Amino acid sequence: MENQIVDKIREAGVVGAGGAGLPTHVKADAKVDTVLVNGASCEPLLMSDPYLMESEVETLLRGLHAVMDCTGAKRGVVCLKGKHAHALESVRAAAARDASGGIEVFELADFYPAGDEQVLVREVLGRTVPERGLPLHVGAVVSNVETLCNVARALDGQPVTHRYLTVAGEVGRSMVLKAPVGTPVEDIIAFAGGATIPEYRVVDGGPMMGRVLPDVSRAVVTKTTSGLLVLPPDHNVVVRKVMDPARVRQITNSVCCQCSRCTDLCPRNLLGHSLHPHKLMRVFASQDLESEIAREALLCSECGLCEKFACPMLVSPREVNAQIKKNLMQGGVKWESSGRPLEANPFREERRVPTARLLRRLDLAEYDTHPGYAGEYTPKRVSIPLRQHIGAPAVCTVAAGARVKCGDLIGEIPEKAMGARVHASIDGVVESVADGMITIKA
Ligand code: SF4
Ligand code: SF4
Repeated sequence: MENQIVDKIREAGVVGAGGAGLPTHVKADAKVDTVLVNGASCEPLLMSDPYLMESEVETLLRGLHAVMDCTGAKRGVVCLKGKHAHALESVRAAAARDASGGIEVFELADFYPAGDEQVLVREVLGRTVPERGLPLHVGAVVSNVETLCNVARALDGQPVTHRYLTVAGEVGRSMVLKAPVGTPVEDIIAFAGGATIPEYRVVDGGPMMGRVLPDVSRAVVTKTTSGLLVLPPDHNVVVRKVMDPARVRQITNSVCCQCSRCTDLCPRNLLGHSLHPHKLMRVFASQDLESEIAREALLCSECGLCEKFACPMLVSPREVNAQIKKNLMQGGVKWESSGRPLEANPFREERRVPTARLLRRLDLAEYDTHPGYAGEYTPKRVSIPLRQHIGAPAVCTVAAGARVKCGDLIGEIPEKAMGARVHASIDGVVESVADGMITIKA
């Protein structure tokens, strides 16, 4: 039975909708006691998960039960913030109606990053995930809201073809919408009333961990696109994300005053992990990248709190950590735990950063309009990437000229590799297969 569910999840191409896109059948194969639904929606401005928890709560709980069955978990906990009052009400009512049992609801405080898997596990279960570890090392699996809705659809044989996402910032109308995977980003912006400024950049994801799209005209919606933020090119959020790494180095070397505020507020440090961003700044300035301390960069989640909130000098420990981490990983360096017990900082709760303060610091408060659902967008053409997930890219199974229907398989997992299937997201004709993309014309 469990294997059949895992097979259906794999066949439907379900990947983690809230992060880097780990194929969900890999996660569902673990054995744990608890499944946590990550409904924290902790990236400012993104609203599709609260919308789904309100409008598709039965689908969500069906997906949750399926993953509980696969993993042997007896507890399923839906975690969301009290500020999403309608979603909270809907989830509580559905949990009370649920005849299968084992479903609980946990109300999270409104802070960033409440949705970091390791922070969430600590908040809800009081367990500390080991350094460089996963929630399953402490008996938990964490799944995103849309991922679980996709799991429920997979049980009915429906593959992942669409994505719910938020469009916000400098657009005619901020909104949550549903769009086929592969929809051009420019179409989505036009659907939201177009950009309200002549020059803009687009952040794919949230303002904290999202990335600025290098070329909007070639970008498309993928299974992991949670939001598109349209911002002025000189906006605080954009400028920090596109800064040249050499400039980051220069600022680090000349400006960091070693106040250690980045360490004081670092969510991973507060969990008790051996991560001290202010020490990494020192190591980076001296280029002593072989030292023990340099290895601490492997523990950084790149949540961005140090860069966008903590540092009074506008320095970016996150970027510094990312650069050191990249070097270490390229050199095959692995984290070695000292084996010391991990003790959370006693001031962890007081040091959590409220989302409202973060929004003001990011200069995004004016865009916090709590957008509603605007419906489904149907494009004339989609370009579907063969890689939208962690692991090997899918192998194309169609050729130009083929007629496809929405839901048809167009990309298969390579033999013996970890990956995810890809399916047509509209009815149409395959126009081209090039550069890792399958383009279908409606
Ligand atoms: S908060 Fe900024 S200035 Fe202070 S130690 Fe960290 S990086 Fe340096
Ligand atoms: S990005 Fe900064 S605050 Fe976040 S985990 Fe890394 S060092 Fe800590």
